[in-house]
Amino acid sequence: MTREKTTKADMQSTICASAGLFENSTTCLLIALPIHFARSHQQYLISEQLVHSIRELRKSILKEFQASFTSERPINTDVIDNHKQLEFEDSLAGEKSVQTIITHDAIVLGGGPAGISCALELHENKADYFLIDRNSSLGGQLPDITNSIRNFAARYWDSGAAVRDDLEALCQKVGLCVQSAETIERIDLSTKTLYGLHQTYRAKAIFLATGTRRRALPIERLQEFSDNVIWNVEAHQEKVKGKSIAVIGGGDNALLDSLWLAQRCPSVLVVNRSDRFRARPDVVRDVRNDQRITVLEHTEVVSIDGESGNMQSILVRDNRTDKTTAYPVQMLVERVGTVANTEVFCGQVELDGAGFVAVDRFCQTNLDGVFAGGDLISSDCQGIARSVGDGMIAARSILKYLIAA
Ligand SMILES: Cc1cc2nc3c(=O)[nH]c(=O)nc-3n(C[C@H](O)[C@H](O)[C@H](O)COP(=O)(O)OP(=O)(O)OC[C@H]3O[C@@H](n4cnc5c(N)ncnc54)[C@H](O)[C@@H]3O)c2cc1C
Repeated sequence: MTREKTTKADMQSTICASAGLFENSTTCLLIALPIHFARSHQQYLISEQLVHSIRELRKSILKEFQASFTSERPINTDVIDNHKQLEFEDSLAGEKSVQTIITHDAIVLGGGPAGISCALELHENKADYFLIDRNSSLGGQLPDITNSIRNFAARYWDSGAAVRDDLEALCQKVGLCVQSAETIERIDLSTKTLYGLHQTYRAKAIFLATGTRRRALPIERLQEFSDNVIWNVEAHQEKVKGKSIAVIGGGDNALLDSLWLAQRCPSVLVVNRSDRFRARPDVVRDVRNDQRITVLEHTEVVSIDGESGNMQSILVRDNRTDKTTAYPVQMLVERVGTVANTEVFCGQVELDGAGFVAVDRFCQTNLDGVFAGGDLISSDCQGIARSVGDGMIAARSILKYLIAA
């Protein structure tokens, strides 16, 4: 049987947060171990002096810790003191063990544009929230964007990393409540419990903003020729010039890239797995009318050939006849979309037909108190502006939900 009790002592939260935060530090172990011992043997009857000295020691370690991460990890020390905790006493074979769960009213999972935006709005409204991200710095996909950012109605940025730097500076300025470098491995959405690598967390409301990753295609020898495979033409303009190129995909990105490449490369092959293109009709028409572009329908790239890491050809299979044909190609552009990062809450929340989390216009999922936004909820309309908007909407929904709960 598991019994749940809420502790009042702020001292315990201080200790446990220290233990979680400094898990890899010897000093932390020096603090955490005696406390753990004291807790399991005396049930929190620790003298006030000991608590005081631990707090002081913790403060100085925290300062040092923050100093070493200031540019990368905005951490609000107040938050750590404010963590409320649930203590579990498990009786297993007569042995008592105590497990700590960090609780907040709202937990934001994912520190990309959607998560940051949600957390900022919750912060603005003085909510009890906490943002968790597995990376050591915030920004999600932003550091991967090498092109300039021209479609986020705030200003022009030279790259995604520049947007990230500005967002991170903002988070630090307002003192956003963040735990970075914490991977959530599993979530039980029925109890809204998040099982992290370092800690367990629980909330009344959760905002899922875990984003997406590039779809991986099962192409033979892809790794061997990885230098000749790109996902973003704009970021590799010099690399693609004068090369024979194949573009995989049938969406806007794939076809717009093909049109751009046709003006700079001797040959452009578009490989699409069906005869339906998801791209805008005008773009599809332009591609079909462009004599420099060859469109292959109902086809898939199955393998790559070449020498010393230099791609020389690709093998393309017709998925209606299974017939394979080799085409001379020196570079491959994979524009096949993204996959939603839903693994940690797999099977618990309703998804749409494309595997993205289904939400209503308030970013509410089919589960009470569970909200989602950003790239995670849309396969066909992804972007920084949309994610930031979703974060704001979700925060407002969460605030309403918390008041009603
Ligand atoms: C190459 C490239 C170019 C782009 N160019 C543009 C552009 O020009 N303009 C534009 O508007 N958009 C662009 N985008 C898209 C834009 O980056 C995304 O739309 C945006 O980052 C989505 O934000 P998000 O918060 O929904 O998700 P993400 O940015 O993907 O953030 C998700 C976060 O969740 C965290 N996370 C996931 N799972 C866990 C877990 N289990 N535990 C803890 N943390 C977890 C991840 O670490 C990540 O930080 C581009 C993207 C790429 C890759």
